[in-house]
Amino acid sequence: PVYLDYAATTPVSPEVLEAMIPYFSHHFGNSGSNQHLFGWEASDAVDEARKSIATYFSVKPASILFTSGATESNNLALLGLLEHQTPGHIISSSLEHKAVLEPLAYLATKGWEITYLAPNSTGEINLDQIKAEKKPNTSLVSIMWVNNEIGTINDISSIATWCTQQGIICHSDATQALGKLDISQAHLPDLMSFSGHKIFGPKGIGALIVKVNTPLQARQWGGAQERSLRAGTLPVPLIVGLAKAVEGIPQLLNSLPQLQAKKLDFEKALKASLGERICFNSISENQIPHILNFSILGVDWEKLFRSMPKLALSNGSACNSKSTFPSHVLKALGRDDETALASIRISMAHTYLQEDHDWVVNYLVKSLEKLIS
Ligand code: PMP
Repeated sequence: PVYLDYAATTPVSPEVLEAMIPYFSHHFGNSGSNQHLFGWEASDAVDEARKSIATYFSVKPASILFTSGATESNNLALLGLLEHQTPGHIISSSLEHKAVLEPLAYLATKGWEITYLAPNSTGEINLDQIKAEKKPNTSLVSIMWVNNEIGTINDISSIATWCTQQGIICHSDATQALGKLDISQAHLPDLMSFSGHKIFGPKGIGALIVKVNTPLQARQWGGAQERSLRAGTLPVPLIVGLAKAVEGIPQLLNSLPQLQAKKLDFEKALKASLGERICFNSISENQIPHILNFSILGVDWEKLFRSMPKLALSNGSACNSKSTFPSHVLKALGRDDETALASIRISMAHTYLQEDHDWVVNYLVKSLEKLIS
């Protein structure tokens, strides 16, 4: 099948793989072993990787904490920041990934009051909504940078700037923003999460960027790694791979115009052949070009998926694909259960080639026409 699920994960790029290989075998040392060359080599590689990622985001190297991925980064950010504090108020949104919503639900059981902002009709959260919900005891704002199901962009630069002025800590899950939107020059939030495998890096590695003076505490103990904020032997090859993937971000950003053109092709062809039977869920102007999300009205969702065996697509969110619950994101946009269930997310990257594209558009449209006829 042709792979069109790049928002779920990406392959490791050849450059990333090449950079990682020596650290699996030849340079296999523990970066914490400071008595011998094997440890020094590993520790130098980690230092270099940390510096390189920090340079890309214009933060201090000590601000980069390596984690197993965005899920862990989100948990560490939210719980490491708040669990030890007297419960107060948090502002987040109903569009967040489960890796934010579930730690927040846990904090709610500990007495935290949480306001979940509803998006506007195109799926964005804006600063005015946050301002309107601010309370004297609001201690955190956590809003994702780019939504993983519908691709809408939130203006985290402005939100983070306002939070700093108000003395409120700002966290953003930036997993889907990297490589899709240039955030290297943005005003970054105090805490920012991302994963390597969404940007042609390896799975099982990510980072939490923690700006200086953010009062984060550890969530796991047993080692002094990562300033004692995240104990455990560092996965040196994965860290080297993550840095190489971040280095490749400018190249990912170069492909935005081609992806925008491909997305338009899909939209035009689908509209022309399906007319009233299609409902686009990714309708914002303010959106990454990689993601196209639509529902086919009046079609059983399982049939919908079985109708296109030659395409690797997702129904809204890969993390939800084993459940038959309608996507919480599409529900937050106001879609009914049936429409939310009968949704398809196409997600692209530069490795989705033009030579496949014409065939894919035709195959998609023909399969859907057959299904609804
Ligand atoms: N947040 C967002 C917005 C995501 O898209 C994902 C991946 N689906 C995650 C968090 C979780 O990332 P990981 O599985 O790499 O921990």
